[in-house]
Order: sequence, then C-alpha cells, then structure tokens
Amino acid sequence: MTSRRSVVVRWVLSLCTMTLIIGMQQPPTSISLIRAAVSPDSTVLRIRAASTLTGFQRPERVPGGFVLRLPGATIENDAIDSSASAAPLRVDAKRIRDILVLTVRCAPTDSVVLRRDGQRDLLCVIQPKKTEKIEEPEDVIPRHQTGSRGKWSLDVIVIDAGHGGKDVGAEGVNGTFEKDVTLAIAKLIRARLAEIMPSTKVVMTRDSDVFIELFRRTQIANDAGGKLFLSIHCNSMPMKPHPAHGCETYILRPGRNDDAARVASRENASVKFEQSQRRYEGMTEDQIIVATIAQRSFVRLSESFAAAIQSEVNDDTPLADRGVSQAGFFVLVGAAMPNVLIETGFLSNRSDAEYLASQKGQAAIAGSIASAIRSYAASYQRSLSH
Ligand SMILES: [Zn+2]
Repeated sequence: MTSRRSVVVRWVLSLCTMTLIIGMQQPPTSISLIRAAVSPDSTVLRIRAASTLTGFQRPERVPGGFVLRLPGATIENDAIDSSASAAPLRVDAKRIRDILVLTVRCAPTDSVVLRRDGQRDLLCVIQPKKTEKIEEPEDVIPRHQTGSRGKWSLDVIVIDAGHGGKDVGAEGVNGTFEKDVTLAIAKLIRARLAEIMPSTKVVMTRDSDVFIELFRRTQIANDAGGKLFLSIHCNSMPMKPHPAHGCETYILRPGRNDDAARVASRENASVKFEQSQRRYEGMTEDQIIVATIAQRSFVRLSESFAAAIQSEVNDDTPLADRGVSQAGFFVLVGAAMPNVLIETGFLSNRSDAEYLASQKGQAAIAGSIASAIRSYAASYQRSLSH
C-alpha cells in the first residue's frame, strides 16, 4: 500500500516537474526571412524572426565565410531570399540539435558585425577586405577633400532647392508651394554667402523653376567637387491646417521613428515625377543602410552641420526647434560629401506657412543657414589646426 502510494506520489511529482520544464521552455523562434543588400562597399544581411529573437552567438570565421548560430531557432521554408543566395553570397541553413546554424559563404571579409535591429531583426554587416572597418572613424577627412596644399577648405558648397517645375512639393495651408519657398531661400543663402564667405563657390542644383530628378541633385554636387550638400524643404502634414510646427534637420540614416519615416517617404515621393523610377526600386531600408555605410566618413560632419543649422535657426527665427533627426532620404543617398536635409517649417501650419511665405521669414531662415555654414566651416578649420 505504502509502496503503491509512493509510486503515485513520485509519478505526480515527476509530472509536475515535466510540466514545469515544458512551461519554462520558450517556444522556438522561427526565422521567416534572410535577405541581402549587396554593394561594393559592404553587404547587409537581414535576418528576421517571426517573433522576438531570444539569442544569438558571435559570428565565427570559417574558410570561405563565417557561421552564425541562433540557439533555439528554427527556419521557415523559403525564408532565404534569392538575394541571399546569389553569388558571391550564399547562405545555407541547417539545424544541429536545437541550434540553427547559418553558414554564410562570401568574398574575403575584413569584418563581420552582428547587431539587433528591433525585437525581431538581426543585421549582419559584412565588409569586404581592404576597406575601412565598419566602426566610424574619428572625423576622417576624405582624401579628395584635401586641397593641393594639403589643407582642407570649404571651397564649394552645394545648395539644393527641393522640388521644382511639375513637382510643386507640399501645398501650404495658405496656397504657397514648397518649390517656391525652397528656391527663394536657396537664392538668399547664395547671396548671403557671397557676402560672408566670398572665396567660397556656391553651386545651386537649380536656380529657376525647373524639375530635377533626385539622383541628379547629388550627381551635380559630386561633379562640382562639393564639400557640403544642403537640401532645403518644407514639412507638411496630410491634414491641413495642422498644429505641428517648427524646423528640423535630417542626416541620412535609416529612420528611427514613424515621424521621420513619414517625412522621408513624403520627400521620396518626388520620384513619381521622374521618367523612370527603376533606379529607386531597390531602395529598401537595407539599401539605405548600405548607403549610410558608404557615407560613414561624413556622418560626424553631417551631424555637426545639422546641429549648427538647428542652433542658428533657433537663435534667429521664431520657428520651433525640433532638433536633428535621421531618415532615409533618396536625395542624400549619392552624396560624396557631408550632407543634410532641412525641413524649414510646416506649410500645413498656419503660422509657419505665413512665415515661410514671407520675405522676412525667408531672409531670416536663409541668414541663419548661412551663419550655420560659416560656423561649421570655422569650427572644422579649428579642429584641424589642433
Ligand atoms: Zn520637400
């Protein structure tokens, strides 16, 4: 009797323990997508899980590539996108016990960096050999920016008046077109720079009411040997009038929040006026990451220029300071120089729109941007002499 009871007790206990163990085990995370964005500079592999990704191990180098291990993960059929299985890249997956092992074959690499991107995504940034490491260098001056006397100078500045021609941009609550405000401000900046930085050449991507494709704008800047690229825009909300107001400046990086993504997608919509949109088709978020990596030597300079703009606009105009943000703007993608995009104010806001449409407002904004260019140039020259 006693022995039967102890058997029953033991059985109940072991059942409880089993339930406890099963209850504690997390359901396996399943990988739903592995996609690659390849450029000569780097390859970004996005590994997306269907639910929160619980863990991963550091990539291990093996001959011909590297291995990634994701404990407790499984992989869905067809998760490996064709972009991740096209030469020179090839991703293979197999499960060894409860570990998902991804073998990545690729060209000889210098660095492989794995990091989280949100709860469900892992980004694996692969840099080919003989390029700089992924870590952003300390204020590197791109070689082409060193003049013949070995001294960097801000000798060519490119001002890009957003939109133009058939692309009117945002339409203000007061009927003002964004393309007119941006052109007026751009011309005023040019005039002001001629006074305060007379030895600096100012190149305009447009100085009349014409349509220019987004990709052409940085092409013009690069061809002119620009050392700084500034794209001028006005913000807008879909519903007008709208209380959102103020000035914000963007650098090129994948958007961090919905608000930044909204601004970028509104500005990127200009491509619908272009004859062929094919060149932008691959502009996924990962492509923006690749472009950001290509611009890594300019990131700090772009950030410091953006901060200078916000500070001067805040000092010299009544526009609210919305700070520096980041998002994936197509117009900045090709720039081979520090670059920013300014959203001067909201045309969907009555007070901002009135200011943006006024000569006084345009002159004040242009003056503050010109001051920001001068203080950026001065602080940069100072940092070089230390
Ligand atoms: Zn715009």
